[in-house]
Amino acid sequence: MKPSNDSIAHRLNSIRAELPNEVQLIAVSKFHPADDLREAYSAGQRLFGENRVQEMVAKHEELAAELPELRWHFIGTLQTNKVKYIVPFVTMIQSVSSEKLLHEIERRAALVNRRIDILLEVHVAEEETKSGFSIREVQDMARRIFTQPENFAHIRLCGLMTMATNTDNQSQIRTEFHSVANAFQEIRLAFPAEDYFCELSMGMSHDYPIAIEERATLIRVGTKIFGERDYGQAL
Ligand SMILES: *Cc1c(COP(=O)(O)O)cnc(C)c1O
Repeated sequence: MKPSNDSIAHRLNSIRAELPNEVQLIAVSKFHPADDLREAYSAGQRLFGENRVQEMVAKHEELAAELPELRWHFIGTLQTNKVKYIVPFVTMIQSVSSEKLLHEIERRAALVNRRIDILLEVHVAEEETKSGFSIREVQDMARRIFTQPENFAHIRLCGLMTMATNTDNQSQIRTEFHSVANAFQEIRLAFPAEDYFCELSMGMSHDYPIAIEERATLIRVGTKIFGERDYGQAL
């Protein structure tokens, strides 16, 4: 049966049809019920993004056995005291926004004997509420991770993540993505042996086409797949 025009499967397929091969789609399922993830999974989606620890843990517990290939990317603000809840199963933590958090992920991953893929979050947006390293700080942090591997044996630095300013000004969004893409490229050139450092996560429902033009490899799309979020709905 062909999916109806406003189904999750249909929307997923039309987004996928526009993506270059090297770009992977993270389906951001925050605030949407487990049934919506099941629907996306049966349409072939495997990578899902959540921004709240409690919600990701609850969905993981509900779905892990049933949807064995589902992979979780954490994309939200992460408090250090909650790292322990996601480290046993998360595939990638995209939103590593401080050195303190980085060390806690390292410590907790060591305790469960895992190596966790991470991205460093870069703050280029105007909003103060967004977090992350400045361009200069992120270059320094990446350098320290790569030159002190003994201190980071349980994390793998896979790239950078950013959110642009929430604005209709396309050229501002482009400029912000461009500056993060340049920082990413500079780090790659400085550490060419670090094969895993190859992911640039940027772009959401309203700005992912610009992000792709600016060389994103991971895009994080929620609303355009699952519809508007109902923030009133308790978990
Ligand atoms: C919610 C969220 C997204 C997806 O946003 P949409 O506009 O619904 O596509 C992407 N990235 C992060 C970090 C988010 O918190």
